[in-house]
Amino acid sequence: MSEFVKNLMAQVKAKNPSEPEFHQAVFEVASSLALVLEKHPAYRKEKILERIIEPERTFMFRVPWVDDQGEVQINRGFRIEMNSAIGPYKGGLRFHPSVNLGILKFLAFEQVFKNSLTTLPMGGGKGGSDFDPKGKSDGEVMRFCQSFMSELFRHIGPNTDVPAGDIGVGGREIGFLFGQYKKLRNEFTGVLTGKGLNWGGSLIRPEATGYGAVYFAAEMLSTRKQTLEGKKCLVSGSGNVAQYTVEKILQLGGKVLTLSDSNGYIYDEAGITTEKLQFVMDLKNVRRGRMKEYTDKFKSAVYTPIDPNADHNPLWNHKADSAFPSATQNEVNGKDAANLLRNGVYVISEGANMPSSIEAIDQFVEAKILYGPGKAANAGGVATSGLEMAQNSMRYSWTREEVDNRLHMIMKSIHKTCVDTAEKYGTPGNYVNGANIGGFVKVADSMLDQGIV
Ligand code: NDP
Repeated sequence: MSEFVKNLMAQVKAKNPSEPEFHQAVFEVASSLALVLEKHPAYRKEKILERIIEPERTFMFRVPWVDDQGEVQINRGFRIEMNSAIGPYKGGLRFHPSVNLGILKFLAFEQVFKNSLTTLPMGGGKGGSDFDPKGKSDGEVMRFCQSFMSELFRHIGPNTDVPAGDIGVGGREIGFLFGQYKKLRNEFTGVLTGKGLNWGGSLIRPEATGYGAVYFAAEMLSTRKQTLEGKKCLVSGSGNVAQYTVEKILQLGGKVLTLSDSNGYIYDEAGITTEKLQFVMDLKNVRRGRMKEYTDKFKSAVYTPIDPNADHNPLWNHKADSAFPSATQNEVNGKDAANLLRNGVYVISEGANMPSSIEAIDQFVEAKILYGPGKAANAGGVATSGLEMAQNSMRYSWTREEVDNRLHMIMKSIHKTCVDTAEKYGTPGNYVNGANIGGFVKVADSMLDQGIV
């Protein structure tokens, strides 16, 4: 570890105690940036990285609401406006009981580099609440969303800060949030992305993160003159990102063996087909059920519960070519990484944000496999949110093909930036350095141009 990274991390830990995910995200980026900071003394002199790790603004607020039993409930709401050097703050809202300041700061920090990589003019932000939508009625979710937006609306706007979905925030939640914003502001604007198609949403936005992660894997494979055709794939999660990852893998001829939720995972030796995926989409998006039900319906599959306290996740211990972690942060630890490599996995495209621990990443880089980190591989979601913003500004909608083509082009461009940047800084094939440096330079140069603000 360089002296610079060591000192920076000491400061980050002292100033942001009890935020291990934020420390981890900063450490990963700072380790790559040591290469670029040496070459560009202006970045050091102007303390660009030290400024990037400090949010421009952070809001924390009370979210009171009344449940179906008439009981008053209180949650905590957050919005981190991390960096606006290249555009309005942009990034999702996460509703999950694990949400806290440190988790949202790591996500907002990652978002700054990711958004820069998309080539679109978007700064970085993230927000959410420790509210758990699981097991809540539609009425409860609506009342929570309305209360959440009753505070958030003062801080956001189509040219200021444009939130979207993330874990626990899908089309239903975006609808309730948008309705309340419109009522309070008396304005119909593109203040959120992931909207319904009838009221300003973009075609392909729901599919974009998963499709993008698979396009990124296909690009990585093309550097070895290979395709996804016939490749065995492990996918984790069963939400928005996982579902459309499976859909695109199937379209490109791959075979998907696994899916999961926080209770357990299914291994389907026969492969998850389009019909089985339809069942999962209905199970998760409409009936809001659990993955275990998959094995009641499809006898070729085996269900295994996942113990979050175990030292490894058995989902990552199957023979395969490719892995798409698409659930949550740190779902692949050092032991899982060793299992993946031992089982022959040599293509990893991260749909989730920071799903691999530092120990896992070190092993992937060392083994020189095709490892696409989340901030590059899952950038298709926010890129298509950027396309939704563009369509809202024009008051016009593109066709499905048009948006999908643009998404595909953006993923190719992100891949090229990663490859070229890794090469330029003397670490060819290292997508971690490629993504971190590639995302950083545009933000850093913009900050230099704009003075100390
Ligand atoms: P969803 O809420 O639609 O799905 C999340 C999935 O991950 C569910 O299957 C959920 O299981 C599982 N999961 C969530 N938390 C945990 C946990 N602590 N342990 C185990 N499993 C868990 O979210 P998305 O699909 O939208 O998001 C998945 C990942 O992708 C996140 O890391 C998110 O930040 C990232 N991402 C999402 C984007 C988007 O456009 N939606 C864009 C870029 C990145 P359960 O139902 O049991 O909770």
